[in-house]
Amino acid sequence: MLTTWRGPPVVNILVHRKNLRAQAGGGGEEAPSMASRGRETAVVVGGGAVGACAAYFLAKRGLRVTLVEQASIACAASGKAGGFLALDWCDSSPLQPLARASFLLHQKLSQELDGPSSYGYRAVHTLSVMVQEPSSNPSSPSSRPRASSLPSWIDGSGVRTSSCIGTPQTTAQVHPFLFTRKMVSAAVEGHGAQVLIGKFSDVIVDQSRSRVTAVVVDGTQIPADVVVLAMGPWSTRSKIITALTSISALKAHSIVLRPADPSAISPHALFLKYRTREGRVMDPEVYPRPTGEVYVCGMSEEVEVPDDPDHIYPRKDSISMLKRVAANVSLSLQNAEMEVEQACFLPCSEDGLPLIGQIPGVGGLYAATGHSCWGILNAPATGASLAELIVDGKSQLVDLKAFDPARFVRASWR
Ligand SMILES: Cc1cc2nc3c(=O)[nH]c(=O)nc-3n(C[C@H](O)[C@H](O)[C@H](O)COP(=O)(O)OP(=O)(O)OC[C@H]3O[C@@H](n4cnc5c(N)ncnc54)[C@H](O)[C@@H]3O)c2cc1C
Repeated sequence: MLTTWRGPPVVNILVHRKNLRAQAGGGGEEAPSMASRGRETAVVVGGGAVGACAAYFLAKRGLRVTLVEQASIACAASGKAGGFLALDWCDSSPLQPLARASFLLHQKLSQELDGPSSYGYRAVHTLSVMVQEPSSNPSSPSSRPRASSLPSWIDGSGVRTSSCIGTPQTTAQVHPFLFTRKMVSAAVEGHGAQVLIGKFSDVIVDQSRSRVTAVVVDGTQIPADVVVLAMGPWSTRSKIITALTSISALKAHSIVLRPADPSAISPHALFLKYRTREGRVMDPEVYPRPTGEVYVCGMSEEVEVPDDPDHIYPRKDSISMLKRVAANVSLSLQNAEMEVEQACFLPCSEDGLPLIGQIPGVGGLYAATGHSCWGILNAPATGASLAELIVDGKSQLVDLKAFDPARFVRASWR
């Protein structure tokens, strides 16, 4: 759960204003049902967790789905996130119904699809842990009295206090890379979806009907009755999405460690209040995984997203800081093998809420993006409720009104 950032204001609208006025008030809840339209072809753009779940649920509802991804499935934040899930941490925000529905859907999907734990779903304990870096390098376990709630591997010399902030009933995790790929393979193998590796550049709209008819991928038109744009932090590169909102991106870093004895690391997710010896205060997170790895993330910065997801590189100083964090939390982590050093971008919307629903002015065109620090948690309910909206004309699972992309359209042309 990383801190989010509010992006710059909407800059332009390319969709004809007459159409916007006619359709903006309807929001994402008033699309005509698919029953009245027959079997349809859907193109989902973006092979992250959100696109993967949209593709899965649309294919499950009977659409002929093509998932378009420019690089590889889960190459961006969805493959590099923590994968932490919480039932009630979004309560008292408009995200509450989406997050609660999605937490339960994760449980259900893990039973239906996780086979022999193929993507690392498990319930976890969650602790808030206060850590103060000692003045010298960490080399011995803390000599301070230990809180009884602390598992034995949390023995770093900087560890001070801890408190329980989540139980296995309310918090869980997935391995986000494996989860995203599993959703795609379930869509392909179970429901006939196809994956196309290529770069989406545009949508073709029949102006007389104000309806999408195709997308352009690597210069070729692919017919589509329904298009879902789930391009994460790249959403803003699409002319149409830029017209409707401002998705911004926040870069964050992570490392993956492999301790010598993974069986000594209990399933406890840690949210740290971390003070460096220089007095800097940070909120890194530590997630042991059932695969035997321990994931540590934090260190965000506002920089531009490169065009190519394979060209996102971590900063050396941010990675060094995460190693310092790990070493001060646990001697097992201090001595662990470094497996991965990486960075990725959170997709953030102007009001901190995702965009899920129809893009006003263009029939058949939908957005599913801007999930910020909760995209792995909220991907399943986003995909399932969007599929209901597209197929039935209304989402029963979650009321999508708060996430209607039209809210940014209204703000920009009033
Ligand atoms: C360090 C970190 C830790 C996190 N931890 C958690 C966590 O513990 N729990 C949680 O719920 N969330 C977490 N998140 C947030 C989560 O990772 C994101 O919200 C989520 O991954 C967003 O998924 P997405 O599918 O929208 O975007 P992405 O994963 O960014 O996927 C977008 C995809 O679209 C593709 N694409 C873009 N443009 C095009 C184009 N023109 N043509 C074709 N394809 C295109 C990209 O290549 C990419 O694969 C974390 C994020 C970060 C950065």
